[in-house]
Formats: sequence, structure tokens, C-alpha cells
Amino acid sequence: MSERIYMSSPDVTQREEDAVVAAMRSGWIAPLGPDVDAFERELAERVGVDHGVALSSGTAALHLGLITLGVRPGDVVVTSTMTFAATTNAIVYTGAEPYFVDADLATGNMNPELLRRALERLRENGERVAAIVPVDLLGKAVDYTAIEAIAAEFEVPVLADAAESLGATHRGRAAGSFGRASIVSFNGNKIMTTSGGGMLLTDDGRFAQHVRYLATQARQPVVHYEHTDVGYNYRMSNLLAALGRAQLSRLDEMIARRREMREEYKRLFAGVAGVEVFGAEGDDADNVWLTSIIVDSDAAGWTPQQLATALAEDDIESRPLWKPMHRQPVFEKYRGEIDGSSERLFERGLTLPSGSALTGAQRERVLGAISSFVATR
Ligand SMILES: *Cc1c(COP(=O)(O)O)cnc(C)c1O
Repeated sequence: MSERIYMSSPDVTQREEDAVVAAMRSGWIAPLGPDVDAFERELAERVGVDHGVALSSGTAALHLGLITLGVRPGDVVVTSTMTFAATTNAIVYTGAEPYFVDADLATGNMNPELLRRALERLRENGERVAAIVPVDLLGKAVDYTAIEAIAAEFEVPVLADAAESLGATHRGRAAGSFGRASIVSFNGNKIMTTSGGGMLLTDDGRFAQHVRYLATQARQPVVHYEHTDVGYNYRMSNLLAALGRAQLSRLDEMIARRREMREEYKRLFAGVAGVEVFGAEGDDADNVWLTSIIVDSDAAGWTPQQLATALAEDDIESRPLWKPMHRQPVFEKYRGEIDGSSERLFERGLTLPSGSALTGAQRERVLGAISSFVATR
């Protein structure tokens, strides 16, 4: 049997290995050091904001971003239902109540009309909405033009979950630069990785300073460890920041590799009835982190599950799109503006191998397996 092909494996080279070894030899083996500082500067510059705070995960960045926005127990935070659980988890950590907004069918991103309806309803109820957390799904930035305008109208700050969209843009502006602050993730399966890590990005120096303070156990600047706030141990290790810097230097090349695979999928499915490559329209602004297809089973004559089973037999990983948060047993008690779009995407979608580390032979194996599945239907 040939080796297993994953959806999105880490893409590391000699450059990453050299960077980690150099950091280790430098003696900075701590959650601070010159690589942390440089990584923050380099990523902030890449995204076009003034400040970055490197953290232990994207989830930690969301958590501290929400606290710094003043989100408290009893508040409501409006967020996308079509996302990975980390977004909702971070809201629940603060004691606030998540309020879900359904997706736009073409992109899976937060539907601005439903966001407006949510904010109107919550205002009528007299509830305090402390933040809006939109999610850039699978590497496509949300419609920040619409969402930031609505947020401004209702005077609610935006914390942008750009965990999946580093390298993407909206109207020429980089994902990670929107809202009062944005967060990105460097988990092992993301577009670039530090094995685990994240960063909060913002133009607001005081915001960044407060996040950095909370992330280092909220130590007052005195020698005897004085504390006036509950702190967290959320900083990124210097070794991992070195890995991140090497990955950042290869980000564009990795995006280009993912885009090549996206184009292969577009060619393959162009002639297949009932199948569209998800979010393909206008995807030149995306980082094309993951490529998914949406299958109309009546027109195609097969279901996404059947394709997934066939691929699994060839040891090729595929997965449904994120199961919407309002359908998750742990979160289904929360309210939302739900119109069925995200459930429809969940039922019809399948995410295919998309990683930049896929070799030519692996790509051919995946495309061949899909082609022969489609040909026998
Ligand atoms: C991966 C991800 C996160 C969490 O990032 P971690 O670094 O894994 O904690 C948050 N939101 C979204 C949308 C993600 O895909």
C-alpha cells in the first residue's frame, strides 16, 4: 500500500530546520527572545499593521483579544456558525454568550444581512453585544466592507478570525489587518505553521500591549511579581518563532503551490455534472488554504460521502466542511440567525487534499483516484 495522503500536511524544508537549530544554539529557549520579536515585526509588516503579539495558539489569540475588547460574562458575542469550534470556544471561555450568524452560500462566510438582523434583534432586547467575530472560511476573507460598516453603525468592535486566511486579501487589503484586531493561527494544518501557535495583529499599540501583558501572567513591572489581573501563559516559544519566520519567508511560494492544486481540481471538475469547486469565483484574492467541492447529488449521481469512501480506500484523506456550530451538541443551546445555508454546505461539501507539501506523484494519485471514481458513476 502506498503512503497516506493528508488534506494539509506541514510543509517544512531545510530552511525551517536550520532556523530552529540556530535558535536553539542561540540559547533563547524560552517564550521570549529575538526570533519572537522579529517574527512579530515581520508578520505585522507583511499584513500591514503596526503590532503583532505572538502567542501559543490562534485560540489563545482569540481569547485574549476578546478579553481586551472588554468582553465579560453575560455579554453577547456575534459570530459565524460556519467555523471550527475554536472560535466559539474562545467566546465561551470569557463567560459571554455566542450568537450565531449563518453563511453566504457562495463562500460560507458570514452573511451581512443576517448579521444586521442579529444586531437589530439583540438591540431590541436591550442586550449588550460586546464584539463581532467573523471568520474567513478556508482562506477567503469575509466581506469586511459590508461587515465593518454594519459594526460601525451598531458601534460594536470587530475581532477578525483570520486563522485560515493569512495571505488572502479583501479589496487589496490583507486578511489579518481588519477589525480592532485580527488573529491568525500557525497550527500544523494551516497555510504556514509553527507546529502550534498564533498571533494577534492590530494597529492599536495599547491593545497589543495589554494582550502581551495578559499572555505573560499579567505581571506588574516590579521585581517581586505583583498581580492585579488574572493572567495567562500564552506566549510563543522562541524556537517556534524561528520556525515561523522561515515559514513566512516561503508563504507566497506555498500559496502558489496550493493554487496549482486548486487549478487542477477546477480542470478536473469542469466537465463533471453537479459539482462545483467551492468559492472558486474570485479566488485570486484567496490564499486557497483548502479546496472543497460542493456536490448536488441528484445531478452528479453520487454523494460526497461516496467519493470520500472511495478516496479512503486509496488511503487519501478528505473531510466534510465544518459542521456548523449551532448543530454541535455542546453549542446548540445558543441562539442565532440561521437560514439553513451552512447546513446545506455541510451536507454537500467535501474538502480534498490541498497541502503545499503534496508531491507531483501525490497530486497525480489524488486526481487519478477522483477521475476514476467519477468515470465509473
Ligand atoms: C485553526 C482555527 C482556529 C484556532 O487556531 P489554533 O491555532 O489551532 O488554536 C481558530 N479559528 C479558525 C477558524 C480556525 O480554523
